[in-house]
Amino acid sequence: MVTIPLLELPSEIAALQQIALDLRWTWSHEGDALWGHIDEKLWERTLNPWTVLQGASRERLKQLSQDQKFLDKLNGFVNARNEYLNTPGWFRDTDRGNQLGGVAYFSMEFGLGSALPIYAGGLGILAGDVLKSASDLDIPVIGIGLLYQEGYFRQLIDGRGMQQEFYPYNEPSALPVEPVILPEDGWLKIGLEMPGRVVQLRVWKATVGRVTLYLLDSNDPINSPLDRGITAKLYGGGPELRLMQEIVLGVGGWRVVEALHPEVEICHVNEGHAAFAIIERARQLALKSNLDFWEALWATRAGNVFTTHTPVAAGFDRFPAELLRKYLPYVEGALHGRGVKLEHVLALGRADQSNSDEPFNMAFLAQRGSAITIGVSRLHGEVSRRIFQPLFARWPSCEVPIGYVTNGVHIPTWDSAGSDRVWNKILGKGRWRTPTGKDRMPIPDSVSDEDLWAMRGEGRQRLVRYARYHLGRQLREGGFDLEQVQKAETVLDPNVLTLGFARRFTEYKRPNLLLRDLARLDKLLHNPMYPVQIVVAGKAHPADTVGKGMIQEWINLARNPRYRNHVVFLEDYDISLAQEMTQGVDVWINTPRRPWEACGTSGMKVLVNGGINCSTLDGWWDEAYTDEVGWSIGDGSGGTAEGVDAIDIQSLYDVLENKVIPEYYDRDGLGLPRRWLQRIRHSMGRLTPEFSGARMMTDYVEIAYLPLAKAIRERMRDRCAPARMLNQWSRTLYSRWNGLHIGNPVVNQSEAATNVVVPVYLGELTPNAVRVEMFADQTPEHAPEVIMLHQENAIPGSTNGYIFAGAIPPSRRMEDYTVRVVPYHPNAFLPAELPLITWQK
Ligand SMILES: *Cc1c(COP(=O)(O)O)cnc(C)c1O
Repeated sequence: MVTIPLLELPSEIAALQQIALDLRWTWSHEGDALWGHIDEKLWERTLNPWTVLQGASRERLKQLSQDQKFLDKLNGFVNARNEYLNTPGWFRDTDRGNQLGGVAYFSMEFGLGSALPIYAGGLGILAGDVLKSASDLDIPVIGIGLLYQEGYFRQLIDGRGMQQEFYPYNEPSALPVEPVILPEDGWLKIGLEMPGRVVQLRVWKATVGRVTLYLLDSNDPINSPLDRGITAKLYGGGPELRLMQEIVLGVGGWRVVEALHPEVEICHVNEGHAAFAIIERARQLALKSNLDFWEALWATRAGNVFTTHTPVAAGFDRFPAELLRKYLPYVEGALHGRGVKLEHVLALGRADQSNSDEPFNMAFLAQRGSAITIGVSRLHGEVSRRIFQPLFARWPSCEVPIGYVTNGVHIPTWDSAGSDRVWNKILGKGRWRTPTGKDRMPIPDSVSDEDLWAMRGEGRQRLVRYARYHLGRQLREGGFDLEQVQKAETVLDPNVLTLGFARRFTEYKRPNLLLRDLARLDKLLHNPMYPVQIVVAGKAHPADTVGKGMIQEWINLARNPRYRNHVVFLEDYDISLAQEMTQGVDVWINTPRRPWEACGTSGMKVLVNGGINCSTLDGWWDEAYTDEVGWSIGDGSGGTAEGVDAIDIQSLYDVLENKVIPEYYDRDGLGLPRRWLQRIRHSMGRLTPEFSGARMMTDYVEIAYLPLAKAIRERMRDRCAPARMLNQWSRTLYSRWNGLHIGNPVVNQSEAATNVVVPVYLGELTPNAVRVEMFADQTPEHAPEVIMLHQENAIPGSTNGYIFAGAIPPSRRMEDYTVRVVPYHPNAFLPAELPLITWQK
């Protein structure tokens, strides 16, 4: 049995337990001094208050309980926390509070802090920042995820510069999580039907300010050894294990929602991994309300939103059809006779629904099961409309129903103490807890250039100190001799232009672009007047030998005595390291091959701290970049990989040599780089609010949560009568769609207008179930256009034949337009929920 983590603390300091278990400490740094005071070393090493508290001896705790200064600090912190928790925030403070019951946010990984290592990278960090921002804005969100026995791997670099991977065991009692205990039933366990057995899932919770994150694990002694390993490793194992994990997340996760949070109306599926929640949600409603599965799906889909993250179809999560046939029969189980056939459910995950051999695509299920699908940047929205095109076969790509909400970062997690002071002057208390206005202003003159430059200097110095310490430790632990270790103490220079660069080492991110012209790089690093230094970090996927090779290239450079003082590679990239880097660097370099980076968030983390981005026009930077706020690499025009690489390499060096470095070292009599500071004002002032978690979450509230809560309430009223009608409506359209056809349009050209009439024969359909439209595609001069035609007289002698008529604007020619018929229902999300379409022949 896992021990239930409760500590016996002297009553004076009993509050420590609660605050150590509230991950609000990952962003509210007033508490840091407390933990440091309890055990400096342990705190520095683990950054985990829960571990610090558990590690403290009885004697130390007793001492603390009698230390008035400590008690005062503790009291202050507890009061601040109570105020945070008890003051209604932006969302609840208005009448929005009544319009949304709750949101369950499902994600395979959550990156909240280094102390809870259940994340691999960007996707997890985003999910963590979503929960933190929801807490700040007081949006009723709960998180649903998995508690892995081993998190993502920890990285060490060996003597040859090769990455080694280690998977330390996540001792649950040492993690800042608690079992979910119900007053009567004890520890909440969820049973999950797997082939031939029921797997017991344990339910844990992590507290994130006002938000609760529920985590499931299968490591219960009652399960078979095989099943205990389902949640062993994040992204570990083959397809079957991965499928089991996704069933645990989606199906098990939805059962947690049902058990603890019946008020939840919105199911937010973060990436396709969690899409089984959609099936389970419908299944549960069918059972409870005596509906057939498809009626229940019509009801629940209105409350589902899917965020897609991949920019290439190959990135979609897919499973062989036979694996699904093995694991999903439970869906049919209790629902027999209620209109659910496994094969039809499986068709939700195929592009060609009639091809029963096609692999099951989780993103397709997620799109088909959600009213709204959302990409993670403007550019990614466009790209997604192309890669989801197979589900909207005859729809124009611009009408594939995928919008976007550009990601944002939770500012208080990523700002430094110094930048926080500056922002305090600009926005005052409570900043980042309300959505900022849409006017993006540069940093005002009330913050002086001296203040800004002091903030930058402090950040850079801190990073240099941290890099020396971190490098010394990694060399010592890597078995290097004392001389080498000592040299780490003098690497880098706190007064030198510092470029930073951290990411997953994978081909499309081109993390070695800067190394492609070593002679030119050498000149940059060794220019005596205008020196440059680089701090690098990042992991390669364990199976990615190309990525590992690229790490080795950087290590070779960093260990070469000629570059040792100018280039530092910091091992084991994680949240803490990302914080140090993004708070300290002057310029953040980002070099993905466009459009492979769906969004990217690391560059957003430097904004609040006065760092400047220098990036290819990919992901978020494509919409953020202007020449006042930073620099762009390449021209974004595309082409072959080799061609683009060649252009981008030149461009990267050109930008550094001709723009970045001269501007940085252009100093006035006081030693201040005035042009650079001007750039900081624009980047920091304009972009920080725009790419913040607060903006991202208000977008989700407005675009998805509130409209969907309204929609699902409508569909569920009168024992789901509207949902049942929609289901009927869609079935009718499906079965009768082929009976309709469009006759030849007749054009009447007059001086004033171009009028069009077209006969449409609807077969067995009624005119109010469809819309007849004219569509003109995008051209260089025109945006795409849809003109609705109105129904006129019935055609004599026909069955359901009508004349439809309308006028086209003088700016476009008739040849641009094609007549089409599409489904219409005022309460359906179209074409997302029913992508039928017929075009004029
Ligand atoms: C922010 C962050 C990421 C995501 O960064 P991108 O490279 O921009 O996708 C990944 N890992 C860590 C540890 C981060 O902090």
